Amino acid sequence: EKETVEVAPDIRHIPGTPAFITPVDKLINWARTGSLWPMTFGLACCAIEMMATGASHHDLDRFGIIFRASPRQADVLIVAGTVTKKMAPIVRRVYDQMPEPRYVIAMGSCACSGGVFRTYSTVQGCDEFLPVDVYIPGCPPRPEALIYGLMKLQEKIRREAGHWGFWR
Ligand code: SF4
Repeated sequence: EKETVEVAPDIRHIPGTPAFITPVDKLINWARTGSLWPMTFGLACCAIEMMATGASHHDLDRFGIIFRASPRQADVLIVAGTVTKKMAPIVRRVYDQMPEPRYVIAMGSCACSGGVFRTYSTVQGCDEFLPVDVYIPGCPPRPEALIYGLMKLQEKIRREAGHWGFWR
């Protein structure tokens, strides 16, 4: 039997062959981090920065992050903007229509905590009705901040174990 060589954490190479060995959940998580598909969905001014992040200058496509127009094809919900109490049930419905595993990013002060809108009509943070994975502060956060938040989400996914939604 050939000795294997560790080339990265949890990845071993079989010398003299093009083969590598890794736990299957690591492989699946790696594939997921390289193909995050956010839902095309904006609520207020933060959504303009989200669109700028996806456009050619910042180019999210280079990370495999491609916006999808249907929740059935998306696995990331970027809550980009002020969430009014009227809009919250619709945001929740969009989230419920996404297949698992799915992730939520609260983009901007409004989505994180209601921002400057301490009013009767505004939800004081989308974590009141959604399980948020990453919070990005700012009013609005710049595209670099959103990219950083997406990188943090990738790190979180890499650490997940046995979260194989499609096999359930
Ligand atoms: Fe607009 Fe600021 Fe709220 Fe973003 S955080 S939706 S920029 S008011």
